[in-house]
Amino acid sequence: MSKNSKTYDFPPYRPPNEAFSALIRITRGCPWNQCAFCFMYKNIKFEIKRLEEVKNDVKEARQIYRRAKHIFLGDSDNLLHKNLPEIVAFIKKIFPECKRITTYARAKTILRQKLEFLISVRKAGLDRLHIGLESGDVVVLERLCKGLNPKEMIEAGLKAKKAGFEVSFYVISGAGGKDCWKDHALNSARVLNKIRPDFIRLRTLTLQHGTPLKEKLMRGEFTVIPPIERLKELKLFLQHLDLEDCYLTSDHLTNYLWAGNDVFYRGVAGNLPNDKQEMLKDVQQAIEYIESTDLKIKDSNQLYEEGFISSL
Ligand code: SF4
Repeated sequence: MSKNSKTYDFPPYRPPNEAFSALIRITRGCPWNQCAFCFMYKNIKFEIKRLEEVKNDVKEARQIYRRAKHIFLGDSDNLLHKNLPEIVAFIKKIFPECKRITTYARAKTILRQKLEFLISVRKAGLDRLHIGLESGDVVVLERLCKGLNPKEMIEAGLKAKKAGFEVSFYVISGAGGKDCWKDHALNSARVLNKIRPDFIRLRTLTLQHGTPLKEKLMRGEFTVIPPIERLKELKLFLQHLDLEDCYLTSDHLTNYLWAGNDVFYRGVAGNLPNDKQEMLKDVQQAIEYIESTDLKIKDSNQLYEEGFISSL
């Protein structure tokens, strides 16, 4: 069977660094589905797949993926599946060569689940959780309808780490808009400094049609900050990160900046703390380039509006 099998239940989304991973779907959709910027699972009714169905999928996946060093589990909130320890153990049995299993996880669900359950999932072989922080600022989190406050985000992150998971947190550049960009930068750094994640992944706020935040933008109730201000926000965020052993990456197209038709900035990436000064230098260079050029600077929002990016 080819990897493009029409019958196999492929998760519709996965992190970019899982592009070569085997994909197995444990749940469908998002049980929250209310984040104001999110378009991902809007048309999917949340569903926890039955244990037998998942096991059959795992066996089918074995036919599709002849070798799977890494496995990613979809969709957005698999820690809700009460059979997750059994499922992960079954995946490990069917894919003995697998070195890493990861999944998306909602911070609220981490808070709600018992620590013993999380530990049993970890012991079964789930290695890493991809968690959306988006912002560490209380006003911004409310505006994004994330359903958690910064204190809960910290508790969730620490609980996931206590259970033994590697944690990867997503931050949205530009989420503070015009009025809250400084608080967004400072409080996101503050929250992450408390959690001490293994990875930070940056995304740029790109408002797609049909999302509540895009509607707010259309009504004039929200302002997307231009690239130069977003870079200043990123600089402030980086300056205030005080982390050891954390890899920060901008592994998404939304972080790119174009001058005319050429990409001149692809985001920053590096280990903290060692590469921090280098990353700050890259951001400063991008700021100075924008200040010095007459070319039109475009980010993912303009490219989306112009139809060059259809979905992110
Ligand atoms: S960002 Fe995550 S939690 Fe929020 S609606 Fe989208 S999938 Fe659900």
